[in-house]
Amino acid sequence: MKKVLVFSPHPDDLDFGCSGTAAKWVKEGREVVYCILSGGCRGSHNLKVSERELRKIREEEQKKAAQVVGVKKVIFLREKDGEIENNKRLRKKIAQVIRGIRPEIVVSFDPSNRKFDNFYRSHRDHRFGAEAVFDAIYPDAGSEAFFPEIAKKYPPHQIKELWFFASDQPNVYVDISQTIDKKTEALKQHQSQIKDFETTRELVRGWAKEMGKKSKVKYAEGFRKIQF
Ligand SMILES: [Zn+2]
Repeated sequence: MKKVLVFSPHPDDLDFGCSGTAAKWVKEGREVVYCILSGGCRGSHNLKVSERELRKIREEEQKKAAQVVGVKKVIFLREKDGEIENNKRLRKKIAQVIRGIRPEIVVSFDPSNRKFDNFYRSHRDHRFGAEAVFDAIYPDAGSEAFFPEIAKKYPPHQIKELWFFASDQPNVYVDISQTIDKKTEALKQHQSQIKDFETTRELVRGWAKEMGKKSKVKYAEGFRKIQF
């Protein structure tokens, strides 16, 4: 069974993007690990909560959401919300996670989404975080020439497939008809972000239905997949 590592710019992005597929893969017996780049500590309009407090709340929410779909391990890299940069420091942290977990499949936000037609999708953390993950996979994680100082503990690792969620150009559809309820239940855990859960649930079901139409199933998640 192929091991999967999912990267998400903030808590909740991956639940919107691919938690139905994650739930399905876990059900099939695959090991799925989450890695969250930023704690999303500024993702609130309630300024009475400190950044540190909010980060704690959101990390707890993400852990609960992972539990709902059966994901046992969640790694938090704790980059500052709104300040993710595609730089060497972050790429090293990401490459270390990839070399440590050693997955065949990595799932991540699509860095090719560059239309700036949607505020949520075009958030700078999504853009720069997605690029940092891409660059950390290739060439960094797989090459001895990069980060030799950690190579003894974290030897190079080349993944086999990269799946992008929230993509403008999906080319693979995963049938999530059996796990759509797990997906919405996972989203429900992000209480600090979702004011009106019923509305969110209907919205998410609507998107999954649209994706489902393209692959002739009831509910689906779409991905852009590339291979090595
Ligand atoms: Zn986000």
